[in-house]
Amino acid sequence: MNPSDIEFDLRHIWHPYTSMTHPLPTYPVVSAAGVELVLSDGRKLIDGMSSWWAAIHGYNHPALNDAAKSQIDKMSHVMFGGITHPPAVELCKQLVAMTPDPLECIFLADSGSVAVEVALKMALQYWQARGEKRQRFLTLRHGYHGDTFGAMSVCDPDNSMHGLYNGYLPNHLFADAPQCQFGDEWRSEDTDSFKQLLLQYHDAIAAVVLEPIVQGAGGMRIYHPEYLRQVRQLCDKYQILLIADEIATGFGRTGKLFACEHAQINPDILCLGKALTGGYMTLSATITTRHVAETISQGEAGCFMHGPTFMGNPLACSVASASLKLLSDSPWQQRIQLIETQLKTELLPLKLHNSVKDVRVLGAIGVIEMEQPVDVASLQRHFVQNGVWIRPFGRLIYLMPPYIIQPEQLSKLTTAIFAAIN
Ligand code: PMP
Repeated sequence: MNPSDIEFDLRHIWHPYTSMTHPLPTYPVVSAAGVELVLSDGRKLIDGMSSWWAAIHGYNHPALNDAAKSQIDKMSHVMFGGITHPPAVELCKQLVAMTPDPLECIFLADSGSVAVEVALKMALQYWQARGEKRQRFLTLRHGYHGDTFGAMSVCDPDNSMHGLYNGYLPNHLFADAPQCQFGDEWRSEDTDSFKQLLLQYHDAIAAVVLEPIVQGAGGMRIYHPEYLRQVRQLCDKYQILLIADEIATGFGRTGKLFACEHAQINPDILCLGKALTGGYMTLSATITTRHVAETISQGEAGCFMHGPTFMGNPLACSVASASLKLLSDSPWQQRIQLIETQLKTELLPLKLHNSVKDVRVLGAIGVIEMEQPVDVASLQRHFVQNGVWIRPFGRLIYLMPPYIIQPEQLSKLTTAIFAAIN
């Protein structure tokens, strides 16, 4: 890309959470293969981000390319209203087989945020069909569920954008975030605030919505599975639906296929996205039980009221199918285990550094929480100069590499972080 294109980008194109007057630098990537991004000047960067949890098999994978190419020659899109097609059926068969048994009715949509909107709407329609007015959601502080309004309304009220939309967002309930970290000794008082809110408001709550085990964009917090187990028990006790947002954690990232497995619980509604297509294109799935689906269908509307234009996009379904097959056929547990061990060996020593507040590792996720917010632009410059792609935010520098990363490539990422912190 020539400098005038970069100039055009800075002047005309919004990037995520950026200012149009003082934009952060953007780096021109012209291709990607395996675990490397290729810059327009030819430099190669080892990717530590999997393009935000998505590219689990790395980039430019022949099996995923083939799936896209063979599908595009048949049809890239057709409406889903009144029509079905082999890529959607094939993908949904795989999803029904991979997810916990009670989950069997699938709604395909365009993005993670929309999957969350769909889950919230399912819960609302479920209670409406049962003749109960339950319109509040109970969620956790430090949660993140997406940027559309419904999803945003259940994000952490302080570190997200609630302040900006005050008066517009519905007023939901926020329990204290879990304090017991994964691997800590369990302290039962961790769920006190959650229990208290349930006790007080259970008649008005449609569902609990949370990210199981790893709270991602709201702070990269990795919490004790007992918290999740208790939440499931309490939801059962008060007959409240549990929505698990596994958009980030799904498909092996935490060492289990789904993070709920760490607590051996099943949600009533499961949201998936990101790695669903191996990071190739946008697609999400909201999966629920037959009981929830049938209850909704017996309600006033007689159906679930949602139907996006690109629902079940064949191209995306075809690549997603290939990605799930690739995952199932790969030794992913072993790969994640090796990545976890290496991340622990190479990152945990940073705990002793006085500018580091905490270091935590689970599966193929490594997080360094600094005492102070980081300077994103200068850190990124350092990382790019060192041949790696890592994008910090707030006080967090974190890694979630593609599962195919090799030990020496992972070491290059952790070494660059060490150098930056020192
Ligand atoms: N839920 C979680 C847990 C996420 O991490 C994200 C994306 N960061 C979303 C929902 C929203 O997904 P999308 O960006 O595809 O809308």
